[in-house]
Amino acid sequence: MDLQLIIDHPEWLLIVLAPIFLGLMAAEYLLGQKRGKLPENAHYHLPEVLCNFTLAGMHQLADLITGLIIVKLYLWLFGWRLFDIEMTATTFMLLLVMQDFFYYWFHRASHRVRWMWAAHVAHHSSENMNFSTAFRQSLMYPIAGMWLFWVPLVIIGFEPKWVVFAVLLNLGLQFFVHTQWIRSLGWLEWVFNTPSHHRVHHGRNPQYIDKNYAGVLIIWDKLFATFEPEVETVRYGVTKPVESFNPLVVTFKSWQEMLKEVSQRGLSLRQRVKLVLSPPDD
Ligand SMILES: [Zn+2]
Ligand SMILES: [Zn+2]
Repeated sequence: MDLQLIIDHPEWLLIVLAPIFLGLMAAEYLLGQKRGKLPENAHYHLPEVLCNFTLAGMHQLADLITGLIIVKLYLWLFGWRLFDIEMTATTFMLLLVMQDFFYYWFHRASHRVRWMWAAHVAHHSSENMNFSTAFRQSLMYPIAGMWLFWVPLVIIGFEPKWVVFAVLLNLGLQFFVHTQWIRSLGWLEWVFNTPSHHRVHHGRNPQYIDKNYAGVLIIWDKLFATFEPEVETVRYGVTKPVESFNPLVVTFKSWQEMLKEVSQRGLSLRQRVKLVLSPPDD
């Protein structure tokens, strides 16, 4: 597959990576369930795996549909760009680092603003952790406003198709941190988001909540004081469990609860706005 083709059709990137994803899931299944080398909460359970795969499919479909509108908006904003950036190895690296920086803030906002958490909670509501957990995405991300976080890159002057490519590459690389197979990656732990750092991010142990928001580089958490090392064994999931393997329930339960609260009678507009913008309690 030639790189230019993927840059022109960035949505194909995850499809191209799919055989690697499937191969690693098969290996993790064999190691965990057939050889018993991984803890019970790393095992693959069919109802949950089917739910995770369906969530990934729903997310991809929503991204494809809304992507057309969002790319149009990006192209319009690109007309107001501050710089003309020619894509070279150096500017490509710069784009990846900057996109990862904005990913950190998108992810942090997704945990601290209820409106955005309503979408992101689907990723966190599993009490297991294996590669298939990475597939738990929400079709509501475009509604939650994920695309807003990449607007600065377009305004700076990175071509929208490269920005979308960087976003999808970041998402694709995060597949590899969803596992209990790898305990530590040595010196890489200092710079990169690793399975150990990301296990902490999925923990509901009190000291692990709202920590390690990194996409690819862990340096942002260290810079902005949200880093927590993995010490205590991680208990995965959220404090208010979803208790369902139905992808529709996993996707919409938090939205339903939020909309019910926000549409209560007797609240002022200010109270309603505050309710959707304040930190979630789960
Ligand atoms: Zn998260
Ligand atoms: Zn994750």
